[in-house]
Amino acid sequence: MEEELKSALAARKEDNLFRYRRVLESAQGPSITVGGQGYTAFCSNDYLGLANHPEIGETLRKASFEYGVGSGASHLVCGHSKEHHLLEESLAEFTGRDRALLFSSGYMANVGTINALLDKRDAIFEDRLNHASLLDGGLLSGARFQRFLHNDLDNLTNRLQRTTSRRKLIAVDSVFSMDGDCAPLCELSALAESHQATLMADDAHGFGVLGEKGAGCAEHFSLDQTQLPVLMGTFGKALGTYGAFVAGSETLIETLIQFSRNYIYTTALPPAIAAATRKSLALVESETWRRDKLLSLVARFRQGAEQLGLSLLESGTAIQAVIIGDAEKTMRAALHLENAGFLVGAIRPPTVAVGSARLRITLSAGHSEQMVDALLTALDSCKDSRP
Ligand SMILES: *Cc1c(COP(=O)(O)O)cnc(C)c1O
Repeated sequence: MEEELKSALAARKEDNLFRYRRVLESAQGPSITVGGQGYTAFCSNDYLGLANHPEIGETLRKASFEYGVGSGASHLVCGHSKEHHLLEESLAEFTGRDRALLFSSGYMANVGTINALLDKRDAIFEDRLNHASLLDGGLLSGARFQRFLHNDLDNLTNRLQRTTSRRKLIAVDSVFSMDGDCAPLCELSALAESHQATLMADDAHGFGVLGEKGAGCAEHFSLDQTQLPVLMGTFGKALGTYGAFVAGSETLIETLIQFSRNYIYTTALPPAIAAATRKSLALVESETWRRDKLLSLVARFRQGAEQLGLSLLESGTAIQAVIIGDAEKTMRAALHLENAGFLVGAIRPPTVAVGSARLRITLSAGHSEQMVDALLTALDSCKDSRP
């Protein structure tokens, strides 16, 4: 085994696909410290600048005095705290659903939900650019697994027409994590209805960001619980905390409580994290300036990048992809930016298709206009960088 693994690792290095971790020495935020060095970060998912918010931190600290650190058990044994329960109620109200259910992470929410809803008699239809957790959930469920072309309704319609399976679930990211574009949720909802299929949206990058009050894709596209029956969201991104939820009908949520293995067989989130998340939710809703600022920074970045002639994917969200193409060139560009004091994501295959390696730049309400302008200047000088 050891020798086999070594050669697989060497092959990955050879292909320029080897991944390294940076050790962060400061809190998450627009300015971070890595290896004693200060950087402006354009790579986190902290879209609203809440990951290091003092009031959320204070709520976490207070709740940890009251409830301790660990939840001590799974929800169904004796780990379901009042703080979890209150957060679920707030989430249901915020999203306009009957009920919401907490999961310990977004990955678990996706895998656990799909597996509670489908088995080998069923079919799942997934956009080919879906997040790995939706894809893994679909594959693990044993349902007939079909990937349709990205945001291609005709391709999906064809597949739906041909299926004879019992239950049919269409699962998509609401905002695609590597491209930043949105799924056509209204059209998907209508399509689902006309084919007796159920629509599920993973709102990891939309929750907190999309919609006037930040309630995410359901609010943005005005989709109620019957039009978008399975709504999943996470707390690790715009909300700046940790964990995830699924919201929907009473029947859906009770089904998950009874049948979702990823819900049943894992320790509940620390109650203090639930308390902090409830605080974050209140800030998301009341501080609308965070979304306004994010949108204006996105517009500023796009305008500047277009002037520089950079190849941007179409995206109105915090996720902005600058396509480079070649994996090695992408790494070189990211290194150049790093030397200039900017950290951005360098996304290569297999995360994205071969030939579409890119810089993944994420904007946050925590950034200033000056930071965005400085990044644009550094991106411009990339063109002249040589290895
Ligand atoms: C981050 C992410 C997840 C996973 O959520 P975690 O809480 O980090 O496990 C799921 N789906 C999408 C689209 C994501 O971006």
